[in-house]
Amino acid sequence: MSDIEVFAAAETVESTDDLAPTRNHTPGETGGYVPQGLAGYVYNGACYCPECAFEVEIPTPDGDGETDIAHFPAFETNETGCGVGVLNCSSETDYPGDVCDVCHRTLDTNVLVYRDGPGSELYERLTDR
Ligand SMILES: [Zn+2]
Repeated sequence: MSDIEVFAAAETVESTDDLAPTRNHTPGETGGYVPQGLAGYVYNGACYCPECAFEVEIPTPDGDGETDIAHFPAFETNETGCGVGVLNCSSETDYPGDVCDVCHRTLDTNVLVYRDGPGSELYERLTDR
């Protein structure tokens, strides 16, 4: 057994209600298929699940209005210097995983759980099976 184990987020949440839904593509003109599945988005240091990303409005790259996070064009930044990144379902994040800034559900990525750390109780439970 190693000091770090990788689990699907679904294994680390108490209930499936705590797990954010996924999609297989991003919407809009610059949208496309996301290999391994779309777990969520990252904008200005916060994460958003594929559902809530439609509800959060941010400035467009041309500064001419606002758009929701899901429809923000790929590979561009706005006046804040931020762009929108995509997390796919095979991304790895430290325990307790990435959580949607709006609905507080855990994004469906892989979660790294450490033997000695904040998830140590979970580590014991999940590795003792
Ligand atoms: Zn959400």
